[in-house]
Amino acid sequence: MSAVIPTYARADLAFVKGEGVFLETAEGEKFLDFGAGVAVVSLGHCHPALVEALTEQAHKLWHTSNLYHIPGQERLADRLAAATFADQAFFANSGAEAMECAIKMARKYHSAQGNDGRYRVITFEGAFHGRTLATIAAGGQTKHLDGFGPRVDGFDQVPLNDLDAVRAAITDETAAIAIEPLLGEGGILTVPWKFFRDLRALADEHGLLLILDEVQTGIGRTGKLFAHEWSGVTPDIMAIAKGIGGGFPVGACLATKEAAVGMTAGTHGSTFGGNPLAMAVGNAVLDVVLEPGFLDHVLEMGTRFKQKLASICDTHPDLFETIRGEGLMLGLKCKVPSQELIDALFDEQLLTVPAGDNVVRMLPPLTVGPEHIDMACERLEAACGRVCEAAKEQAGA
Ligand SMILES: *Cc1c(COP(=O)(O)O)cnc(C)c1O
Repeated sequence: MSAVIPTYARADLAFVKGEGVFLETAEGEKFLDFGAGVAVVSLGHCHPALVEALTEQAHKLWHTSNLYHIPGQERLADRLAAATFADQAFFANSGAEAMECAIKMARKYHSAQGNDGRYRVITFEGAFHGRTLATIAAGGQTKHLDGFGPRVDGFDQVPLNDLDAVRAAITDETAAIAIEPLLGEGGILTVPWKFFRDLRALADEHGLLLILDEVQTGIGRTGKLFAHEWSGVTPDIMAIAKGIGGGFPVGACLATKEAAVGMTAGTHGSTFGGNPLAMAVGNAVLDVVLEPGFLDHVLEMGTRFKQKLASICDTHPDLFETIRGEGLMLGLKCKVPSQELIDALFDEQLLTVPAGDNVVRMLPPLTVGPEHIDMACERLEAACGRVCEAAKEQAGA
């Protein structure tokens, strides 16, 4: 037993080294990493460009606080603004903090216009926005809220893909609508792009801000720089994290100038947010992701993977119901308990991530090659064999 507070059910092993899509234990066992630290290690482990950017910065300057200008921060904000709908960015250290900033910004926007009473945010069932007190209230999941005292006020949850429910939930206290373009923790639940367009129209009609949580879907994960680009509409505020740091803790809240109007000096802050080390890595991630052809590669690998998964699904109708997702954010909806499959995949040295709704999540580094996809599918076939054998044995026993 270690002194670490046991808030995680951890697998009984540790990795000591990572290279590309592979992780290695102290004993030299190599795992194929299709979890990528939950969509964080976007460019694979120890990508040379990121190692170089981080070590170079480490020799120059680590931290100054936000009492001074941070050139790397200004550069990353400018580049994110140039590549998106946004005009401005606030830097934090995690997805939950990026969402906290988004929620605070939406409230402040209305307050700055004299509408202090407009503070409520409409969120969706199955959502995940982080583990702070406000973001568990936004996510609305009992298992995350239980025992942590009164739920932070100001969130109204409605069923996903139900526009009438959204409309019915809007009152004169509503400030914003917040949604993930594709629900990650919820089970790779896709949202029809038409629903986004409808939400955008509804938000405009009622003077609400549209907040997107692209913490998991952003930075190329679905084959676009940001998943909402598939829908053709843009949000007012967007939270990002995970992939932008490639393994270094970075979060950001992007916004239009109008939406951020209330965020003046002193209204919000973060000691570590946007420090020189984090910004050196964030800029280096962006260098790679914005290279011509990078997103085409993600799409190509995503298509190859999805097709192969579809054929595995077809040969095991007893194990799988369907495949979900976009690009390299894919989920296998299982008929058997998904943990059985995840464990069997683990025995085959393929790392995946559980998700809600009995789904096995596959989130390989975006730099994954066709040979890795094929290797993962072979291991999945073998794992399916294991699960079927175990089921037969159990039936026979
Ligand atoms: C992971 C995640 C978060 C929370 O990010 P942390 O860095 O763990 O705080 C928020 N929203 C979504 C959609 C996520 O996938």
